[in-house]
Amino acid sequence: MPSDIDIAIIGAGAAGLAAGIFAAETNPNLSIALLDSAKTIGAKILVSGGGRCNVTNQRVTASDFHGNRKLIDRILRRFDEQATVRWFASLGVPLHTEATGKLFPVSNKARTVLDGLLSRCEALGVSLLTQHFVRDMTREGEKFSIQHSQGTLRAKRVILATGGRSLPKTGSDGSGWALAQQLGHTVTATYPALVPLLLEPSFFHATLSGISHDVTLTTTIAGKTFHRCTGSLLWTHFGISGPVVLDASRVWVRAAAQGEDVRLHLHCLPQITNQDIEKWLMQAASLPGRKLVPTLLAEQLPTRVATTLARVQEPDLSDTPVNLLSKEARRNLVQTLTNLVLPVIGSRGWNFAEVTAGGVPLEEISAHSMVSRHVPGLYVIGEMLDCDGRIGGFNFQWAWTTGYLAGCHSALNIMKQPAAEER
Ligand SMILES: Cc1cc2nc3c(=O)[nH]c(=O)nc-3n(C[C@H](O)[C@H](O)[C@H](O)COP(=O)(O)OP(=O)(O)OC[C@H]3O[C@@H](n4cnc5c(N)ncnc54)[C@H](O)[C@@H]3O)c2cc1C
Repeated sequence: MPSDIDIAIIGAGAAGLAAGIFAAETNPNLSIALLDSAKTIGAKILVSGGGRCNVTNQRVTASDFHGNRKLIDRILRRFDEQATVRWFASLGVPLHTEATGKLFPVSNKARTVLDGLLSRCEALGVSLLTQHFVRDMTREGEKFSIQHSQGTLRAKRVILATGGRSLPKTGSDGSGWALAQQLGHTVTATYPALVPLLLEPSFFHATLSGISHDVTLTTTIAGKTFHRCTGSLLWTHFGISGPVVLDASRVWVRAAAQGEDVRLHLHCLPQITNQDIEKWLMQAASLPGRKLVPTLLAEQLPTRVATTLARVQEPDLSDTPVNLLSKEARRNLVQTLTNLVLPVIGSRGWNFAEVTAGGVPLEEISAHSMVSRHVPGLYVIGEMLDCDGRIGGFNFQWAWTTGYLAGCHSALNIMKQPAAEER
C-alpha cells in the first residue's frame, strides 16, 4: 500500500463501503483505501435487522428522519430507495419487499449484503486496511496527513465515515467526531436512539416478559404531545422494547437528558377509539352471565396482559364480573387501557442503541456532495451526521445515499481541480 493515495475513507461500515465503491466506479484509476479500526469489517451490517439486514424501505422521505428535513430531503433525492434496489441488484444482491415496506436481501441473510459490498470493493481494487485506528488528522497543503495505529498515510481527499457511538464493540466508538472537530467542525450533543427503555423495577413489566402486542405510544413534553407512533411493543425483564418503543425512545432520551418533563403514555387498544372502548365495556356489562374483567380484556389483548391490567387496578379487578363494575372503576379501567403513563427511568444505552441522535450538523456539509463547508477536500457521511432515521431501513438508506454522493463527488473532482476550489 503506497503511503500517498488519492482518497482515504476512514471507517468501513455501510457508508464507507458505499463511498469506496462509488468512488472507484466513478474513476477506476484512483488509489482508494478504506481504513477501519476493527479486525474484521462489517460487524454492524451482520447484526442488523436481526441478522437479515433491512437494507432500505419501499418509501423513504425526509419525514422518516430527525434532523434538518429540508437538507435531508435534498440529500435523499440524489440516490433514493429505487437507486438502492438497482445498485444492490448490480452487486448480485437482489432485494425483496415485506408487507411492512421493509426491504431485505432475498437470501434473508445480512452476510449476503456484506459479501456483495466486499466483493465489489475487491473487484475494483479498493484497499481495505483493517486494524487501522485513525487517531489524528491534519491538513498539510493540498493533502491530508492521517495518523493511524500502523503509521501515517497521506491523501488528497478524505471521507469521514466513522459512524456514531451505537454498539461501540463493533468499532463505532465516537472517535471520528474528534477528527472532524480537529479540522474545524462542530458536533451537537449526541444521544442513543432506537434504544430499548428501562422501567421502574417495581412496575409490572417483568411479569409480561416476552409478550408483544400492538400499542400506540405518545410522548409528551411539559404536557404537550411531541411524538406519537403505533406498532408492536415487547415487554421485557428490564422494561420495554420492540419497534414502537425504539421509535419513541429518540424523543424520550433526548428530552430526559435535557431535564424536560417528558412522559410516555401507553394506549393498549389502538385499533379501537376511546369512546368505543367505553361502549364495549358497557355492552359487555349488559349481557347475561358473569364474565370476569380479565376474560373480557383478553378478547382484545394477550391473556397475560389482560390479567395484569385487571390486577393493577385500584381495587384489584381480577375477580370482578364486568356487570358489577362501578362507573368509577370502569372509567379508571378505560384510563389504564388508553393512557397509562409508563414509569420510564432511562434507556439501555449505547450498547443496545441502533443509532446515534446528533452529530456533525448538516448545515456544515454541502447537500450536493457531502463535502465539508469548512475544510476543502473533506467529506462527512453516514451516522456521523446529525440525522437519524426511524426503524425500517432508513438508517442504511442514509448511509448508501451519503456514501454515493461523497464517493462520486470526490472521485469526479479530484482530477479536475485542487481541493480548495471544491464545493
Ligand atoms: C443492532 C443494530 C441493528 C441495526 N439494524 C438496522 C437495519 O436493519 N436497518 C437499518 O437501516 N439500520 C440498522 N441499524 C443502523 C445501521 O446499522 C447504521 O445506521 C449504519 O450501519 C451506519 O453506518 P455508518 O457507516 O455511518 O457507521 P458504522 O456502520 O458504525 O461504521 C463506522 C465504521 O468506522 C469504524 N471506525 C470508527 N472510528 C474509527 C477510527 N477512529 N478509525 C478507524 N475506523 C473507525 C468502525 O470500526 C466502523 O466499522 C442497526 C444498528 C444496530 C446497532
